[in-house]
Amino acid sequence: MDDELSHFYGRLSATVAKLAGAGRVGFFLLENETLLLQEEAFGIASDLARTLPAIECRADGGSAATRVVHQGEIVRADLSSDDQGMALNRHSLAPVGAKNVVAVPWSSGATRLGLVAAYDSSAPGGFTEDDVWVLQVSATTAALVWQQRELAKRLVAGKDEEGERMRGVAERMGELEEMKRKILNLAAHELRGPLTVIRGYLSMLADGSLDAASLRRVLPILVGKAAQMDALVTQMLEVARLEEGRLHLETAVVDLGAVVRDTIDVAALLAVPGVTVFFERRPEPVLVVGDAQRIATIAGNLIDNAMKYSPDGGLVHCELGSEGGKGFLAIRDEGLGIASHDLPSLFTRFGRIVTADNSHIAGTGLGLHLSHELARMQGGDITVESELGRGSVFTLWLPLAEGKSMAGSRS
Ligand code: ADP
Repeated sequence: MDDELSHFYGRLSATVAKLAGAGRVGFFLLENETLLLQEEAFGIASDLARTLPAIECRADGGSAATRVVHQGEIVRADLSSDDQGMALNRHSLAPVGAKNVVAVPWSSGATRLGLVAAYDSSAPGGFTEDDVWVLQVSATTAALVWQQRELAKRLVAGKDEEGERMRGVAERMGELEEMKRKILNLAAHELRGPLTVIRGYLSMLADGSLDAASLRRVLPILVGKAAQMDALVTQMLEVARLEEGRLHLETAVVDLGAVVRDTIDVAALLAVPGVTVFFERRPEPVLVVGDAQRIATIAGNLIDNAMKYSPDGGLVHCELGSEGGKGFLAIRDEGLGIASHDLPSLFTRFGRIVTADNSHIAGTGLGLHLSHELARMQGGDITVESELGRGSVFTLWLPLAEGKSMAGSRS
């Protein structure tokens, strides 16, 4: 109980004592099945009130205090003679020598707050009905004050909660800003490579040092660089959408094989010397449920990585199939492979794993994070098996369109 409220009960009890012709009036607050006399009330100093023992007032107890608080009774008693009065006296901290007492419930709606007791009536016949009514009015007033206090407390707590929420939002906005800054830096850095190549050829074209025959030769390179830039920009935009919760899927039944074929055609533009991409075709389609555009993004990223991280060349083998209600696209490479201790950070945002062998290979650390999130949003997943120095298998899993799986199962 705060000082201000305690002071209020003190003053109220003095006023009510006067109105009811009582020697003393006390407000007892119920807390954990005990009644606590409110400090300053009852005409005793607050430090003394603190040392007084609490009065037991269990809901299932039989004491007079229980009857007032839990059963809503008004109890009057002659403290000097009857048993009930003695009990109330013993347990209600009545001043030594008090003759009589009347106690009324103190409640706020369904909440039992405690009781209000008046001692030592100045009237010869003890407390009258009017005195009881004065006590009841004072209990109602005190309940209103208590209620208003609770509301104020809740308001403050609510404000704290709101403040906490706002702090959370501000933090998230800060994170988003930081991420946008990182993405912009990465974009500027990663786009510079292909852009430099394109610009180089353009200036050769401008000064006439590139003849028609050479142009035909470099044209696929230019198209490849433009495709690389396009893929990078798409990746950055998708990550930004994902972070801001603006990434919405357009789900349909998708022929996984058709998507893979288109992706390989694009990947061919980015061909890495010495790397052969092989797509094992199946007579029956693998039909999955997902967003064709996003599946292409994932497949493109996995195939691109398989080529990129095979600097000494080798075979990139793409295989389709179905297993356990899921369609899959497995992409196996014979490249650098990944150490088992690096596998857990593979799908994290900006999770580049830089080793002595791959440090010369450009990357953003966003591709696998985005692919993994996209796969999961479509009810699928990406799994990985890898061995350092031997190669990796990345497998994209997506839910099969019901009854539409006709492809062979995984070997
Ligand atoms: P990055 O843009 O760096 O390629 P990714 O998110 O696509 O980012 O991949 C994260 C990291 O995982 C890469 O930095 C690389 O170390 C590793 N990685 C991804 N795919 C392969 C792969 N097929 N073989 C070896 N390492 C790979």
